Amino acid sequence: MTQQGRRFPLSLSSVVEADKRGVSKGVAMPQTAVRNAAKHQQDNPVRQSSIGVKASIPVSTKSDSATSAPKAGSGILVSEKIRQAMVTRIAQQGVKDAKVLGAMEAIPRHMFIEPGLSGQAYVDASLPIGHHQTISQPYIVARMIEILRNGKDLERVLEIGTGCGYQAAVLSLVAKEVYSIERIKALHELAKENLRPMRIANIRLHYGDGMLGLPQVAPFDGIILAAAGMEVPKSLFLQLSIGGRLIAPVGSRNQVLQLVERIGKDEWRSTTLEHCHFVPLHQGVI
Ligand code: SAH
Repeated sequence: MTQQGRRFPLSLSSVVEADKRGVSKGVAMPQTAVRNAAKHQQDNPVRQSSIGVKASIPVSTKSDSATSAPKAGSGILVSEKIRQAMVTRIAQQGVKDAKVLGAMEAIPRHMFIEPGLSGQAYVDASLPIGHHQTISQPYIVARMIEILRNGKDLERVLEIGTGCGYQAAVLSLVAKEVYSIERIKALHELAKENLRPMRIANIRLHYGDGMLGLPQVAPFDGIILAAAGMEVPKSLFLQLSIGGRLIAPVGSRNQVLQLVERIGKDEWRSTTLEHCHFVPLHQGVI
C-alpha cells in the first residue's frame, strides 16, 4: 500500500511544470494501440481543427516529440486547450456527467505517457505503456466512470488494472477513496512514479492479482476493471456493497461492457452495454 503525499489537486500548471522527467522507458509496441492512434488521425484529420483548437502539439506516430514538444509556458496552455478539446469530443460522444468531464479535463494525460508518445496524449485512443499493456482510451475511461457513478458521489472505489495510473487519477476526483491493483510489478512502480508529482492523497496502489479483489478493504460502492476476462471474477461480486456497481469489459475478440449491480444481499443484476476493446485480464502476478 502506498500513500501518495497529502494535497490534491495542485494547480494544473504546477503539475505540468513538474513534468521534467524526460525518462524514456523503452515502450513495447503491443496490441493495436499505436495503429489505433494513427488510424484515428487518418480517419479524423479535420475533427480536431473543427472544434477550433490549434493542435500545436504535433500528433505523430513517430517518437519525435522530444524535439517538437512545446516548451514550458506556452506548452502548458497548449496542453490545457488540447485536453479541453478532448473533453469536448468525449461529451459529443455522449458522456454527460459534468463531474466526470471535469475530472477528465483536470488530469494531464500526457504525464502518464512515455515522452516519445506524449504528442498523442489527447487523441482518443489507447496507447502503449510497455509490458504489452495500454493506457485506456479517454472516451471509455469517461464512459465507464459515468456508469459507475450513476450521478451519485462515490465513497470507496476499486480499480483492477492500474497500468500507468491515469484512470486512478481520474477516479480520485470523483471518489473519496480509490484502491487500485496491478499485477505487473514494473507497471505498479510506473504508476507510483507517475502519480507522485500530483500528490494525490486518496489513492492507494496495490501490487497483486486483482481477480481476488481486496477483501480486507471491501465493500466497495464501485469496482471498475481495466482488463477483459471471459467473465467477471465472482469474488468481486461479494466485495460490492449493496447498491454498489461494477463495470467491466467482458469477452476476448468481441468485448462488451458489463454492468453488475448488487441489489440485495444475495442478488445481483447484470446488464450488457456497448462494445469495447481492452487488454486481457490475467491471473497471478509477474
Ligand atoms: N487503468 C489503466 C489501464 C491499464 S491496462 C489506465 O489508466 O489507462 C490494464 C491493466 O490491467 C494492465 O496494466 C494489466 O497488467 C492489468 N491487469 C490485467 N489483469 C490483472 C489482474 N488480474 N490484476 C491486476 N491487474 C491486472
